[in-house]
Amino acid sequence: MIVPSVVEGRRPKPARRGVVTYRIPDELAPLVMPPEIAARRQPAEDDPHLADQRRLFYVAMTRARDLVILSVPERIRKQRCKPSRFLSEMGLELKELRIPSYRIDGPERRAPGTPRVHLTFSAINAYLTCPLRYRLLYEDGLSVPTWYFVQFGASLHRTLEAIHRRAFAGEPVDEATALALFEECWVPFGPRSADAEQRLKETGRAYIARYVREYATSFPRVRRAELTFSYDAGDALLSGRVDLVRQAEGGGLEIVDFKTRAHGGLELTNARLQVELYAFTCENLLDDKVSRLTVHLLADGDTLDFPWNSQARQHVRHRLDEVIAGIANRQFAPNPGPHCQACDFRRLCPYASRAAHPEQAEA
Ligand code: SF4
Repeated sequence: MIVPSVVEGRRPKPARRGVVTYRIPDELAPLVMPPEIAARRQPAEDDPHLADQRRLFYVAMTRARDLVILSVPERIRKQRCKPSRFLSEMGLELKELRIPSYRIDGPERRAPGTPRVHLTFSAINAYLTCPLRYRLLYEDGLSVPTWYFVQFGASLHRTLEAIHRRAFAGEPVDEATALALFEECWVPFGPRSADAEQRLKETGRAYIARYVREYATSFPRVRRAELTFSYDAGDALLSGRVDLVRQAEGGGLEIVDFKTRAHGGLELTNARLQVELYAFTCENLLDDKVSRLTVHLLADGDTLDFPWNSQARQHVRHRLDEVIAGIANRQFAPNPGPHCQACDFRRLCPYASRAAHPEQAEA
């Protein structure tokens, strides 16, 4: 539960002009309300509007199931803010609430007996992009909305999995079959997003049709579709799913990851590290050597190819160790940058604006 703007003027809000508030005198209360409610009334409260605001605040706070976040901005629309009196009434001093209250660089390690950290590629990428973002998502467990584009990507991945499984079973997959599979695999957006759904569904159909037209000849080379793996990395356990493993044209195996996007914004996904990590963690699960890594961009039908050799293996191990050690040592320093623009926490995060104004970051 997030209660934003816990400052004077917002919580409590000022009373609206012209609205008369009054308190029924205690001696008249039993005449106008059920006696049990009259008996529960607090002794005279100075300001009924304030009492009402306090009750509202109490309700907001007590709806939380696991975590309450109170935000106390220093300014709202350039106006300086004063922390709400409700905070001191709760016995909270502002210095306890200030961000950063996160320990961002301390040597404190996880308590002994704490389960090993469980990492996916998304978690690793979040940490490498911004350790604070990793912390908010994976340590503090904040949820972020599922955007249409994520749902769209899930439908495409389900369709590709169905296509590749069929191909692996030796069944023919032509454009019509692939589009029928796409219909079956489509995850509806919900009634309030009908326009967006229609638009993205058309786009998805075009991506799938082109993929089948251009890659049908590679289907006999499919070896695994959605290969799940887990990998013991010492202080951490890694798991994930590889979109596709196929026989590479020049020998060995090719690991393929599909992206819904085109080149634009690809740097945010760290696509190269992703396929390298898959090669690193899946090598022992496969019956042949990995010789090629491919990122397939469905939006423009383009592919990016990367080598897999001892240098790439060392690079992955190094990055992995860096992330595992950073998490074990509780290092969650914010790393503001252009990626903040795509971060779900940018409106809450006090560091995000510094990314937009680099001169403030240096101040
Ligand atoms: S807004 Fe930027 S600095 Fe803040 S958590 Fe997100 S990525 Fe990190």
